[in-house]
Amino acid sequence: MKKPKVLLLYTGGTIGMIENPLELSLKPFNFDQVTSEVPELNKLNCTIETIAFENPLDSSNINFETWTKIGDEIFKNYDYFDGFVILHGTDTMSYTASALSFMFQNLTKPIILTGSQLPLGQVRTDGKENLITAIEIASKNWNNSPVVNEVAIYFENQLFRGNRTTKVSSDDFDAFKSYNFPSLAEVGVKINFNHNYLLKNNFKELNYVKGFDPSINIVFFYPGIIIKNVIKSIRSNSSKVVVLLSYGSGNLPIGNELVEFLNSTEKIFLNVSQCKAGKIEQEKYETGMQLKKAGVIGVKDMTLETVIVKSMLLINKYPLDKDKFANILLSNIAGEITE
Ligand code: ASP
Repeated sequence: MKKPKVLLLYTGGTIGMIENPLELSLKPFNFDQVTSEVPELNKLNCTIETIAFENPLDSSNINFETWTKIGDEIFKNYDYFDGFVILHGTDTMSYTASALSFMFQNLTKPIILTGSQLPLGQVRTDGKENLITAIEIASKNWNNSPVVNEVAIYFENQLFRGNRTTKVSSDDFDAFKSYNFPSLAEVGVKINFNHNYLLKNNFKELNYVKGFDPSINIVFFYPGIIIKNVIKSIRSNSSKVVVLLSYGSGNLPIGNELVEFLNSTEKIFLNVSQCKAGKIEQEKYETGMQLKKAGVIGVKDMTLETVIVKSMLLINKYPLDKDKFANILLSNIAGEITE
C-alpha cells in the first residue's frame, strides 16, 4: 500500500524559536533546524514534505493576509497530499484555525494545527509529541478515507475542532480548551477518535473561500462603565460590526440611553459573552431581552475568536446586506455552532 503523504507547513511560533542570547527573548529560527531536532519523524509511516515561511512569524504578527497565504499554499497542494499539518504559534492559533475552517468548505482532508509552549530544542519540550502526533493524525486513514475531514488543533494529547478552541494558558502545556464542544480525539497509548463528533465527509466539492475585512470594533463591558463614553467611541469608529462583550448569557447594563443608541444606528451589533462556556440566550433576562428587541444578534455558543473571523469574512462578502450577514453568521459552516 502507498504511504500517505503529509504536507508540513511551518509558519513560526515557539515550537521553532530559539533564545536570543543577549536579550534572552525568544525569536523564530530556520525550519531546517526544526526537523533535525525531531529525527523520529523519519520513522513515521508516511511521507512528509515541508514548506517553511521564509520569515517565520510570532503568531501575534499573523493577520488575515497570512491566513490567505497559508490557505493558498494548502489549496495549491490539496490534491497532492492526504493531510496537512501547520506549525503555528499558540497565541493566535485559534483564530487561524477558525479562518481555515471557513476558507476550506466541504473539506475532505485533515488540516491540523499544532505548536508548543517550549521550543523544540529545549529538553522538556512539548513540541516533539505535538508535532509527531499531529502528523500521525493527519496521515490516518480508515477504509482508504481520511479519519479527520476538518480543521483541528492538536495540543497536549487532545484533538479539538479548531473553530471551537480558545488559548487559555500561557504556562501550562495544556494550553487550549474547547468549552462548548467535546474533543475529537484523546491521545494516550492509542489515538482514540470520538467518531460521533468528527465532521463527516459530505461528498460535496471543495469550496475555497477567501477575503476578509478586519474592521470590527469590540467593546468590553465592566461594572460602572460609562455608557456615554461607550456610545461616543462606537460612533467615532467606522467599523460596521460591533461586538458587545457582555456578561453571562448575554446581559448588559441596559438603560434608555443605550437602547435608543442601538435603535438609531445602522451598525451590526453582536452579543458575545465574557464567559467562555455556555451560550448567549438574550431572552433569559430582561437586560438581554432589551438587546434582542433593539436588534442585537446573539451569537449562540460560538467562541469570540470564531465570531471575529466569521464576521471579517461576512462583511467582506456582504458589505451592505445586514440580513444576509445575520443569517449566515448564525448558520453552521464548519461545526462552529451547537444546533
Ligand atoms: N508568541 C508565540 C506565538 O504565538 C507563542 C507560542 O507560540 O506559543 O508565536
